Amino acid sequence: MSLYDISALKQDLAGLSMVDDPRLVRQKSRDFFWYSPVLKRQLDHVSGDLVVTPRNEDEVVQVLTACHARGIPVTPRGSGTGNYGQAMPLSGGVILNLAEMQSVREIGEGKVIAEPGAILSKVDDETRAHSRQELRMFPSTYRTASIGGFIGGGSGGVGSITWGGLRDFGNVLRLRIVTMEAEPRRLELTGEDLHKVMHAYGTNGIITEVEAPLAPAYDWVEVIVGFDDFMSGMRYANDLARQDGILKKLITPIAAPIPSEYLSRDFSFTRKDQSIVLLMIAPHAMGAFLAFHRRAAAGSREILFRSDKATDEESKNLPPVYELAWNHTTLCARRLAKDITYLQVLYPFPNQIELVEKIHARFGDEVLAHLEFVRFDGDITCFGLPLVRYSNEERLEEIMKIHEDLGAPIFNPHRYTLEEGGMKQTDAVQLAFKQEADPQGLLNPGKMIAWDDPSFDYASQTTYLFPGLQNPEQTAE
Ligand SMILES: Cc1cc2nc3c(=O)[nH]c(=O)nc-3n(C[C@H](O)[C@H](O)[C@H](O)COP(=O)(O)OP(=O)(O)OC[C@H]3O[C@@H](n4cnc5c(N)ncnc54)[C@H](O)[C@@H]3O)c2cc1C
Repeated sequence: MSLYDISALKQDLAGLSMVDDPRLVRQKSRDFFWYSPVLKRQLDHVSGDLVVTPRNEDEVVQVLTACHARGIPVTPRGSGTGNYGQAMPLSGGVILNLAEMQSVREIGEGKVIAEPGAILSKVDDETRAHSRQELRMFPSTYRTASIGGFIGGGSGGVGSITWGGLRDFGNVLRLRIVTMEAEPRRLELTGEDLHKVMHAYGTNGIITEVEAPLAPAYDWVEVIVGFDDFMSGMRYANDLARQDGILKKLITPIAAPIPSEYLSRDFSFTRKDQSIVLLMIAPHAMGAFLAFHRRAAAGSREILFRSDKATDEESKNLPPVYELAWNHTTLCARRLAKDITYLQVLYPFPNQIELVEKIHARFGDEVLAHLEFVRFDGDITCFGLPLVRYSNEERLEEIMKIHEDLGAPIFNPHRYTLEEGGMKQTDAVQLAFKQEADPQGLLNPGKMIAWDDPSFDYASQTTYLFPGLQNPEQTAE
């Protein structure tokens, strides 16, 4: 039974597209939280009360005005591919489904303006057809995720090896947002102000328009290189990442036995004991890349696949390589082994090679290496999204603590709050903006600890438990 007067809200919103069938509402209340056994246990029962699908910004304003007046929480949703329960309505209420606001409004030299629900690959389809341009970066969920959801919940991905992360200055140009007040305001944010709402999980404003930079578009050549040992692959990847003259979009080292056990179901491109590096290289840079490859120090390197030379049969059996990378590596593994989960690790520059070597030697087969090379604050380093053979929550915590003790910070993907999944500290800018833009705390409740419990001690190693999290028995009725 709902805590809110949903029938009255439905009357307020008559004429808007709404769904209250509990089965459909539950579907739209979930994301990829189940990647984490911890979040699966905590959030599996969570459901909103009503899905509202606005067609334009005026309808967004109408929903926020009505929900504000009735004290009903609103959780925005793009495509629901986030993996920390980011888009899950912990206190029920309205799911604001932005999927129908999907048009690309304007394409110019070096930039595109789109509505928040536009799917990233569809934005690229339009910008490519218009003027051979494409988005600088995308998550590996390119073919399903929305541009608003990427900015609200994502951090970077394919393209970050050249362009850095989403939060770096210049990787988003402008956002238009609507606030959650008695009379919602429509604000345009640029420059430093963008950080108020980027990666804030929609807790302090609804993004209704995005202006993003574009780069020249290429028919990227996909390459898979095999190695007899993982550390040779990592060194090769690190050296290639530092070759500024070779334009690339993806550099992903993955340790054996992940490729043969989990990634090559249809097209068996590796031997069982082979580690790989996945690459996307601009076609005009292939000559330079091959020269680098011939010169590289790693003894065992072997090009196993090149999309520009592959037979139709080989290409048909392989997804785009980015769908084997970033968090898709975890997805591929989880499809075949339910006991697999993962971590998100930063190996800070300049010690990335030594750190990866030390950490993986320590865990052996329990934590399997998967790295993503990126440009981070101007330096080349890598994130890790290692696969973990899960035994229990205590051991998972212990594994994370060992990483941190050795100098590799964890962005904990087994927590639903911004702070615990991020820098484990209050983001004063986002908090101050929430006080201004959502004074009743109705936007995506429970995701910002600084709002709910300013005295929470991040050093205590305890998990923050949002007191407003729906009671499983209440929602089961
Ligand atoms: C297999 C897999 C691979 C992934 N790979 C990557 C990756 O490479 N890089 C990466 O960064 N992430 C990755 N992710 C996470 C996620 O897919 C991306 O961040 C994606 O861009 C989210 O888009 P979405 O439309 O699904 O957003 P949702 O999941 O719907 O929303 C994400 C967050 O943004 C908020 N939000 C949505 N729309 C708005 C809006 N209009 N205004 C304000 N807030 C809003 C939501 O409330 C939620 O908190 C991956 C996830 C999976 C499952």
